[in-house]
Parts: sequence; structure tokens; C-alpha cells
Amino acid sequence: MLLHTIAEVREQIKNWKKEGLTIGLVPTMGALHNGHKSLIEKSVAKCDRTVVSVFVNPIQFCPGEDLDKYPRTIEADEALCTEAGVDIVFAPSPKEMYGEGHILSNDFLTYVIPPYFYTDKLCGKSRVGHFDGVCTVVNKLFNIVQPDFAFFGKKDMQQLIILKKMVKDLNIPLEIIPCPIVREESGLALSSRNKYLSEKGKEEALVLSRILLNIKMCYNKGIKDVKALSETAYKFLNENHALEYLEFRDKDNLEEKEIADSNTVVFIALRVENVRLIDNIEL
Ligand code: AMP
Repeated sequence: MLLHTIAEVREQIKNWKKEGLTIGLVPTMGALHNGHKSLIEKSVAKCDRTVVSVFVNPIQFCPGEDLDKYPRTIEADEALCTEAGVDIVFAPSPKEMYGEGHILSNDFLTYVIPPYFYTDKLCGKSRVGHFDGVCTVVNKLFNIVQPDFAFFGKKDMQQLIILKKMVKDLNIPLEIIPCPIVREESGLALSSRNKYLSEKGKEEALVLSRILLNIKMCYNKGIKDVKALSETAYKFLNENHALEYLEFRDKDNLEEKEIADSNTVVFIALRVENVRLIDNIEL
């Protein structure tokens, strides 16, 4: 069932709660692919009812980012969801979520702001305010859908860590279920933004997973020094890759590591054909 208004969703949720059914929420920005599908399947398997939200959230885009050209494919998204056994696809308009006038600055909207220590690094460094937008919209979705479980991909590991922190700090009564990264056979992590890449660009984009897998292999062979592990990346990079960051951080609190251990995540972001791509691997 495709619903566009908060009131319609609330009505359904009320009935489900009355019946004592468990509810799973999968928040997305649409252009659904097999990565999203894996989250959806987990929710359908675990919960009595599943809600997938499809909302390209304007307040998590920075000026100059791809808000206007972000792929919007609601018909195909709805078909994928129906096929997978989703009960509600919630696709609100920006006006439905943020009200008349689309006044989105924090002078006029109550924001949920995650701690600076978590947002001043990795993607938050170049995407200032991005995680404020994410936490705010996810909080709104939590309040609208009141799920027992919410499913997020490890593809966006910094986002996952920040949302877990938000749920803990604000005592939000639900459990976050982290889901593994789904990749193409080539190793490329699935992403709605891969659509911006040419065939050659997709080939160049394999550099992310190659660097990460190689680091993991070196780590498994006994190299734990982060400087030494980082240096193994350079042989994969060429003039088609603009590296933004390659960092080793703690899985729980994003603290920087000098010596890698089993609680370390390696984060990478780089641009190929001016498309910003991210990936990560747990050591
Ligand atoms: P998005 O539509 O990009 O906001 O993503 C919605 C959710 O799907 C987020 O929790 C993402 O982490 C997750 N996701 C996106 N791509 C993948 C992937 N390749 N594997 C696993 N989860 C993913």
C-alpha cells in the first residue's frame, strides 16, 4: 500500500498496535536496489508488519549537492516493495514532512543534532549539517511509524553509528538492526549514486573495495600499524581517483586508531567522475 500522508500511516499503525503486531521500519531515499532489498527482507522476516519510507530528505543535502538530480523511481520502488511483502510504502512530500513554505533552516525547524565528536569527521567533514538532517528525519519517521525495529545498512557506517548513539542517548524505544553491505559480484558496494557512473567509471570505482580488501588481507597477515596499512592503498590509486579520506576508526565511538584491532572499521571516500563514493570494511 502506497501512502503519502502522515495521517494515513498513523491510522494503520494504530490498528496494528491494537492487534499487538510488531513493526519494522526501513528508511530509504528510494531508487531501491538489492542493498535496500536485503534490509527489507530482514524486516519482513523478523516483524509482523514492515514499513518502507521513500523520502529524498532535503535537509540532509548540502548546498551544491545532488538533491535535484537524485534518482526518483517511486513506481519501481513500490513494485519491489510489494514483491518483497512490504505492508506500507510511505512516500511523503517535503511539504508533508516539513510543512508549508519548506522553511528548512534551523531558525525555523526543531533539529536533532548528534554530538560534534561524531559528525566533525569522515563524511561529516565535507557534508556539514548532513547528519543533523539525517537524525532529524529519522526521528520524525520513528515518531510517525513507532517501529519496534529499524533496519540500517552498514554501507553508511558513520550514519549507523550516529543513529545508534541517538537511540541510546534519547531513550528511543526501539532496536536498530545493522545489516551487511550488499555488493555487486565485482566488489562494488551497491548505491543509488552508482547510476551517475559510466561503465568506465564503475570499473574505476572498484578501487574502493580493492583498497579495503587489501587492507583487510594485510591486517589478517599480521600488519596492525595503521600508517603501514594506509600506505598499502597508494598502489591502487591513479589520476581518475580523488581520495577524500581513508581512516581507521573505532566501531562504537569513531575514535581514531593508531593500531588496528578487531573493533576497527576502515572508512574510505573518493570521487570517480566527480561522483562521491563511500565504502568501509570491518577488521
Ligand atoms: P539510502 O536510500 O541511500 O538512504 O539508503 C537507505 C538504507 O539502505 C540505509 O540504511 C543504507 O545504509 C542502506 N543501504 C544502501 N546501500 C546499501 C548496500 N549496498 N548494502 C546494504 N545496505 C545498503
